[in-house]
Amino acid sequence: MEIRKAAGVLETGSPSPEQLEKINAFAKTPLTAEEVYVFAVRLCDDQPDRDLERFSPEALRALAPMFLGKTGILDHAWQSDKQLGRIFDAEMQCDDGVNWLKAWVYMLRGEKTAELIREIEGGIKKEVSVGCSMGRTVCSVCGADYGACEHRKGVTYDGKLCVAVLCEPVDAYEFSFVAVPAQRDAGVVKAADPDGAYLAALSQDAALGRSYRKQLQKEIVRLGLVLELGLDQPLLESLAKKLDGDQLQAVQAALSEKAAKRFPPLTQLSAPAGRTQQADSAFLI
Ligand SMILES: [Zn+2]
Repeated sequence: MEIRKAAGVLETGSPSPEQLEKINAFAKTPLTAEEVYVFAVRLCDDQPDRDLERFSPEALRALAPMFLGKTGILDHAWQSDKQLGRIFDAEMQCDDGVNWLKAWVYMLRGEKTAELIREIEGGIKKEVSVGCSMGRTVCSVCGADYGACEHRKGVTYDGKLCVAVLCEPVDAYEFSFVAVPAQRDAGVVKAADPDGAYLAALSQDAALGRSYRKQLQKEIVRLGLVLELGLDQPLLESLAKKLDGDQLQAVQAALSEKAAKRFPPLTQLSAPAGRTQQADSAFLI
């Protein structure tokens, strides 16, 4: 099953000596630090996304080496001269109980990449779209192959939200730089918790609570933009900041529901496991 998700650019700059060593393992001729530009990308994590899917931590760990050496292209173009970056390091990270896959990409500094580097530095190109092939999707409630049991994504069973857990990665593909995230896959850190159980638990921990608040605020801004409410980003941000915890949850839940109706889940996810697809279809968003 082909999976495609949005991911976000984190840190940027020049490579450290250790990074340069790793880069040179992929380079045809040895490169110097001055010739290379590096940035970090958050590829994927184990939190439910808006498609009500999440990667299992084991899948993230197994995906890391599969992304090594994968190239980055602009706007889904396949020509080899559009290959602009390459992943030279990838590893699983854990923050506040969230497992995520961090990758480092290098690009050669030069005429061909100058504009893209400027756009990354300026925060214009801050999303990349990543793809991978997963061998199995299981139900988060009972662990059966998703579709083989009676549980459905987005429905809560005995207080447990059902999501599809992406397991057993088969391969990772090239990634694309995108100026605007594809609607269906947009967003990096996502909060999906219709029950509010997560928030209740977090209220005991002020620091984590603040981080959850921020996630909800970001999610509301993202959903507001995706749903084309006609409110610009600064306005949405200032509105979201004024909401208290309950209001944030209520607004996020309402917008999520609207988004779920407007952008139904990917059809291939309800297809039988093992169904083959053309490799190219992974890149058509
Ligand atoms: Zn189930």
